[in-house]
Amino acid sequence: MITSSTWRGKRFAVLGLARSGAATVRALDAAGAEVVAWDNDGVRRAGIETSNVAVSNLDEMPIADFDALVLSPGVPLNTHPIAAKARAAGVPIIGDIELFAQARAELPPHKVVGITGTNGKSTTTALIKHIIETADVPVLMGGNIGLPILEQAPLLEGGVYVLELSSYQIDLTQSLDCDVAVLLNITPDHLDRYDGFDAYAAAKARLFEMQSPQHDAIVSIFDAPSAAIARSLSGRGEHLTKIAPGFCMDQSRWPSLQGPHNAQNALAAINACEALGIPNSAIDAGLASFRGLPHRMETVAVKNGVRFVNDSKATNPESAAPALAAFDGIHWILGGQAKSPSLEACRPGFGHVRAAYTIGAAGQQFRDLLTGTMPVTYCETLERAVVSAAGAAQTGETVLLSPACASFDQFRDFEARGDAFRVAVEALP
Ligand code: ADP
Repeated sequence: MITSSTWRGKRFAVLGLARSGAATVRALDAAGAEVVAWDNDGVRRAGIETSNVAVSNLDEMPIADFDALVLSPGVPLNTHPIAAKARAAGVPIIGDIELFAQARAELPPHKVVGITGTNGKSTTTALIKHIIETADVPVLMGGNIGLPILEQAPLLEGGVYVLELSSYQIDLTQSLDCDVAVLLNITPDHLDRYDGFDAYAAAKARLFEMQSPQHDAIVSIFDAPSAAIARSLSGRGEHLTKIAPGFCMDQSRWPSLQGPHNAQNALAAINACEALGIPNSAIDAGLASFRGLPHRMETVAVKNGVRFVNDSKATNPESAAPALAAFDGIHWILGGQAKSPSLEACRPGFGHVRAAYTIGAAGQQFRDLLTGTMPVTYCETLERAVVSAAGAAQTGETVLLSPACASFDQFRDFEARGDAFRVAVEALP
């Protein structure tokens, strides 16, 4: 567990007790802090068994009595009343990554890499971790990738913490000085949580604002907001690396890093590892042996010469576009809970699509949108779409689930949707 002696005797209110919230409560408690914790979900509340920790509805408590309010990234800072109350009372609103930043002074000498962006964060985080591991350097992954950082055992001297950071997590962090900070891209997403696209971009920019100027910034400048952030960092000189469109890389030796978007992720990872001083031989070996992550352009089966690819993690049109670019002869399964009424971001890949099969809440809307552009069938459910697509696909073609939508209309989350795809594929004759 990672803790700090500076928390001892302080009072923390912790709201949100999913994985990172529960780990936060345990770390604060272990450090000797006084903790009041709450989650609307009774099962999660019951999971907090430590007798030292009070479980009590924070909405009904005077927030001014606390030294800090620790929010889970799922709590909307812009609309939740507790955030407004804490702001009015001058109580700092923080998250588990800020607590990690506070604990760093007591950790053995180490480095931190922070990765943000709208798409590609998890892939790049896992890739950087894998390359560092290949170089035999102690490494841990944490943050948005689903591994609470505070519950992990601290690294020995010389280790590297690789943190995937969503904009929500950055909003709850004030003092994380990353040795290497990486921005992959900024495209419209999560706009319900921000006062417009500029505010969302500004949240990502804060990762660099927290950094010392002599630390390394790696910024992919494929979109205007990212390019603007790179310009604002031009004073960093050799400590700023810009990744510009148009570079050429041979990806043939990297089976799990196919498609132009993965070239961008790989280049970001290569630059981050070079900034850490990882030898080129380990970088080369790590890129080749990386296995990828589930639900991100993951080949789940090849049946009768047809490849079945699970890209359930593509929850918006921008993140579905790379998969359409990476394959040819695609039978494209899409739909779900739409985040955007348009599929324009996917248009460059339409030439690769043989036929589309739409599902979920956006299924009929997307069928109407694509009619005339490609053959399209409204299938309603994922199972029916898999059967139709598999029936139509010829040897050498690809059945691709890359929904361009959130999953919540029909599934618990994108993982459950990807698992259902795999099961449906396995059930095919
Ligand atoms: P994140 O953690 O940011 O959501 P992932 O690595 O899990 O990102 O990838 C999510 C989706 O985005 C996948 O469907 C993938 O194909 C797509 N994607 C990955 N990298 C990029 C990138 N650099 N640019 C655009 N889309 C990407």
